[in-house]
Amino acid sequence: MLLCAQYVLPITSEPFQHGAVLIRDGVIRDIGSVDMLKLRYPDEEIKDFGLAALMPGFVDLHTHLENSVMRGVVHDVPYTTWIMSVVEKSAKMDVSDWYDSAILGGLEALSSGITCVADITGTGAACTATQKLGMRSVIYREVGAMDKRRVDYAMRVAENDIMHWREEVDESRITIGIAPAAMYACHPSVYGKVSEFARREELPVAMHLAGNREEYNFIKYGSSPFSVHTMDQKRGYVEIPPWLPTGTTPVRYALNWGAFESDNVLAIHCVHVDDTDVKKLREYDVAVAVCPRCNAQLGMGVAPLDEFMRSDLRLGLGTDSPAATDSTDMLMEMRIGMLVQRAVNVGQFLDSATMLEMATIGGARALKLDDKIGSLDVGKRADIIAVDLSSSHQTPTTDPVSAVVNTCSGADILMTMVDGVALYEKNKWNVGVEVAKSIARVIEIRGKLRV
Ligand SMILES: [Zn+2]
Repeated sequence: MLLCAQYVLPITSEPFQHGAVLIRDGVIRDIGSVDMLKLRYPDEEIKDFGLAALMPGFVDLHTHLENSVMRGVVHDVPYTTWIMSVVEKSAKMDVSDWYDSAILGGLEALSSGITCVADITGTGAACTATQKLGMRSVIYREVGAMDKRRVDYAMRVAENDIMHWREEVDESRITIGIAPAAMYACHPSVYGKVSEFARREELPVAMHLAGNREEYNFIKYGSSPFSVHTMDQKRGYVEIPPWLPTGTTPVRYALNWGAFESDNVLAIHCVHVDDTDVKKLREYDVAVAVCPRCNAQLGMGVAPLDEFMRSDLRLGLGTDSPAATDSTDMLMEMRIGMLVQRAVNVGQFLDSATMLEMATIGGARALKLDDKIGSLDVGKRADIIAVDLSSSHQTPTTDPVSAVVNTCSGADILMTMVDGVALYEKNKWNVGVEVAKSIARVIEIRGKLRV
């Protein structure tokens, strides 16, 4: 099939006009001008998106798809109050609720042009959901226990889940990984055990790291709400065992306990970091997922993106939990992320092209999937989206990169394709679930969370 549009944004090379991309067997086989490709492939079926941009699908570097049903349920509160409330609400959800919630999250992601998510889950719902929907994903099984005596058991259960999930999924599309839980919910010995298991099984690792001030104070000074109570995946809100301040930063604490000692580590947030922390992240080749909208919404702070870029870290953008940000929308994430950086870093000036790179090839590099996805290059998987640029709020368009970042939202996505299959085409679905039924189920679940 020949996909055509007014603009093509390959990301790894310059945008061009009147472009076409040839897709065969789920792979990008050719790319160039419409005229040239029509001449080369005269019998090929043509799909023309008109005044739109064809580009690689977004790589959302941090999601919790299973939390989609919690959209807006805890609003207008800072991080600690928010996380405690979300954990409390979570106790009301059962296995099928998590699954339906993750399906909703997957549908939203696809309809807003996200073709690949890196998702942290305690339940596995995102694993089943992305498998069923046909999306690409890296699914990290979260594991943690604050009480040292529970660590081995927690690891055994997680390892068992990971082995099962690996058998259930199409491994060319879905990768299973492991994620130590938040620092205030995780005995430090978990880090070394996670790294050892990840090395043995060649798994990617992801972890929330240095995201909020309370976590920083807890690790460094032993003083924050987390030094009294914490969250346990199964038992909810629990008292923590005695905790001593460590006098160091969250990044160095994780490093000291062996968290970076496997080959493919992704750190999420990294807001409360100093120069030495950034150097360490570089030294250990830890990739970073920046989540500007979640960080702003929950009053967590602003990640030093310019420092990360100067240090040449592998970097991408994540939308994080819809329970915090309300939507899984990488277009909004790029725009707000860019504007926040411009507002706080006078003298630096982040541009649209950099944001677009972070949201596509940057995310792919962070996941070490850039040989397969993240740009429109011959030989890569056909994970492609078409973004409408014809509406009144986008007219006139002269620079497609700037138009995509500054004028679009998820609602402007015309088509989302994974592995050459158009899973979403403007309100039409081609996924393994009944969409109307899934949405009705989620509304029902939401009723339980209100009480
Ligand atoms: Zn998160």
